[in-house]
Amino acid sequence: MYVYADNAATTRMRPAALKKFEETAERFYGNPSSLHSAGQRAQEELTRCREAVARILGAQPREILFTSGGSESDNQAILSAAYFGAKKGKRKIVSTAIEHHAVLHTLKKLEKEGFEVVLLPVGTDGIVRAEDAEREIDEKTCLVSVMLANNEIGTLQPVAEIGKICRARKVPFHTDAVQAVGHMPVDVNDLKCDYLALSAHKFGGPRGVGALYVRTGAPIANLIEGGAQERGKRAGTENLPGIAAMTAALEEATADLPAYMKKVSALRDRLIANLSKIPHCALNGDPEKRLCGNVSFCFEGIEGESLLLLLDEKGICASSGSACTSGSLDPSHVLLAIGRVHDVAHGSLRLTLSEDTTEAEIDYLSEEIPKVVEYLRNMSPVWRDLKEGRRSYIL
Ligand SMILES: *Cc1c(COP(=O)(O)O)cnc(C)c1O
Repeated sequence: MYVYADNAATTRMRPAALKKFEETAERFYGNPSSLHSAGQRAQEELTRCREAVARILGAQPREILFTSGGSESDNQAILSAAYFGAKKGKRKIVSTAIEHHAVLHTLKKLEKEGFEVVLLPVGTDGIVRAEDAEREIDEKTCLVSVMLANNEIGTLQPVAEIGKICRARKVPFHTDAVQAVGHMPVDVNDLKCDYLALSAHKFGGPRGVGALYVRTGAPIANLIEGGAQERGKRAGTENLPGIAAMTAALEEATADLPAYMKKVSALRDRLIANLSKIPHCALNGDPEKRLCGNVSFCFEGIEGESLLLLLDEKGICASSGSACTSGSLDPSHVLLAIGRVHDVAHGSLRLTLSEDTTEAEIDYLSEEIPKVVEYLRNMSPVWRDLKEGRRSYIL
């Protein structure tokens, strides 16, 4: 059996999006900036996409910038607010310890440029507290950035609550909603955010395309200089096939979110219940306040990487920590933030489901994963020490 359970890393393109990509490349080959009819047809298609994306997010079309994806959107939002703040002598940024590297590494860069960055902790449930954000906001704060849903452990953050606080204190607020868009309702007015990042390939669109919502009046600087595309805020000839395919994917993904969430969360909960029977393991993150497709565990006494390789041999595509972290020996910053010690954090497994995941696939995962965990534990000197009492169990 083959099971693709790594949808948080990237998704398979939806057939409707793939079709739209091809059709758009074929039909709308003109440059939207050209004055002739081929250009104007492309410009109209671009406008249609911008209106559709805006409508789904509760935004105005002029508040949507098309970008190359989640990383670029996060960079542009954060750098814009930071540089605008610095001009007014405000150099403090409040964010969280569990953000994606697209946010964390941008903040690191700003720290080197003299900004003060405060990363809020999360509880063992993987959720940041809105009161902690409120306490850190002061007259020097130029930006608060809190993700909507975490990419490793799936936990949902109190973004609407934090947005309300930021609005009251007149502090720009960015949310990385890359894991959330297409998987749960997302409305910029409910969230009270000034910036919101999304990425097509996380909801069945193509890679290398995304969007940044920028509330009217929020400061925005361009990272890429050149032509006047995207209201002069993002130069470069528009990736129209990608944008149209993203729009098609977003329309399909959000057509019936309650039904999608109900179906996938039932599969998630069954998988969580089955894997929880493995001795000395723990679910990472709150069992309920999490993305409908996210299952994340730590298994004591094994290495996540070995687990992934053996699962791959059984046709199971999964992940340990985040794709960006694998290949390095540092355990995931998210698992450390929820209080997992290094040894335990190394034995992590993330399975992320989609609407295509079947009951039979959940059965297969539930049968094979315990076998592989046991096999690896039987070869592990650490596990022998635990079993024979020379070390004590943490989980
Ligand atoms: C995938 C992801 C990103 C980066 O998006 P890209 O389109 O791959 O650049 C940023 N933030 C989160 C939470 C993500 O999951």
